[in-house]
Amino acid sequence: MEKVVSLCKRRGFVFPGSEIYGGLAGTWDYGPTGSLLKKNLKDWWWKDIVQLRDDIVGLDAAIFMNPKAWEASGHTEAFTDPLVECKSCHQRFRADKPAEITSHEKSHPGQKIEWTEPKTFNLLVKAYLGVVEGQKSEVFLRGEITNGVQVNFKNVVDSTRVRIPFGVAQIGKAFRNEITPGNFTFRSREFEQMEVQFYIRPEEAEGMKWFEYWKQNRMDWYVSLGIRKENLRFHDHAENERAHYARAATDIEYQAPWGWDEFMGIHHRGDWDLRRHQEFSKADMQYRDPDTGEAYTPWDIETSAGVDRSLLFVLIDAYSEENGRVLLKLHPRLAPYKVAVFPLLANKPNLVEKARGIYQELKKDFSVAWDDRGNIGKRYYAQDEIGTPYCITVDFETLEKQDVTVRDRDTAKQERVPIAGLASYLDQKING
Ligand SMILES: [Zn+2]
Repeated sequence: MEKVVSLCKRRGFVFPGSEIYGGLAGTWDYGPTGSLLKKNLKDWWWKDIVQLRDDIVGLDAAIFMNPKAWEASGHTEAFTDPLVECKSCHQRFRADKPAEITSHEKSHPGQKIEWTEPKTFNLLVKAYLGVVEGQKSEVFLRGEITNGVQVNFKNVVDSTRVRIPFGVAQIGKAFRNEITPGNFTFRSREFEQMEVQFYIRPEEAEGMKWFEYWKQNRMDWYVSLGIRKENLRFHDHAENERAHYARAATDIEYQAPWGWDEFMGIHHRGDWDLRRHQEFSKADMQYRDPDTGEAYTPWDIETSAGVDRSLLFVLIDAYSEENGRVLLKLHPRLAPYKVAVFPLLANKPNLVEKARGIYQELKKDFSVAWDDRGNIGKRYYAQDEIGTPYCITVDFETLEKQDVTVRDRDTAKQERVPIAGLASYLDQKING
């Protein structure tokens, strides 16, 4: 884990938030490579969920919402963690994380630590809107992105041709006043989610059919990203583990360095959200079947994934060391740079010019890195560390034969490829 954290800092994946001011607990900034990786993950998700499907449309809702929406969804009341305080040093922890409690007690060696009784602590982050001091109204930064979709259910139905069953997909930031942020980016106070609310007929068999469908669909997707199967598992929630409105719930967990932990969930939410929003807003949230005229409140099967958590596990899973060199075996579609271009020698203008031309041409279709420092071995090493799957070297033979050496990150094998066919060669390798 320390090795992944240090690589992330050293190679520009993730920096601690506001670092020059001593940081701000629970915030992280994605650097030049990390922001590309994150964008690639979200783009892949969007393509898979929205672009390639006929039954899901997209949405991009506001972070600020009328506070009543959070009342309706139960967040002002029930979005809480149990908090306990160490009576010796007054640090606060979550009472439902016994490992953290034990580890904190060890930081006071030889002392018997007493804890306060657990208090409920609301995780919603407050903000104030308005321009007149003293008349500002209190709002919340959204604690999850689901509500923005639920309140737009009618707008989506009325403005598109969707018919049940259909889904609404969204990617966006959410904020939680986590008591103990930790495990690098895993538990942060600001994070991004990617979710689908999938609306279905309110029938038991239909509900379980779609619940099982989404479980498998999401597991298959994470495997397709290149995460090793043996590091993924389902964790079905027993009735007493589920949110009160959930009719069924499963997490997908990753075998993290600190133990199995969840990074996405599939939740059968029944009609909880639409029914509550109808109750609180008085708006009609029912669906009317265009063929039969039948009206009903649909059920919702939600898939909710943490972008940052998914990324962290992608990075941990891809990290490897071979013969003393660090290798990030990212899926080519996720890799920040798909290809790097090098002139064999930086002091030969004709090689540099030829390489620059190839670099500029490939940039039109791919994210491409350039390197002309040091020797070729060092350049390969630097690209392996950030997961660049292919490296192109322009040498003297290139000038004669109009072909280049392409070196594969994982096998270190090299082959000659004609310059004219490079783009389609790479496209085939990356996108299959
Ligand atoms: Zn203490």
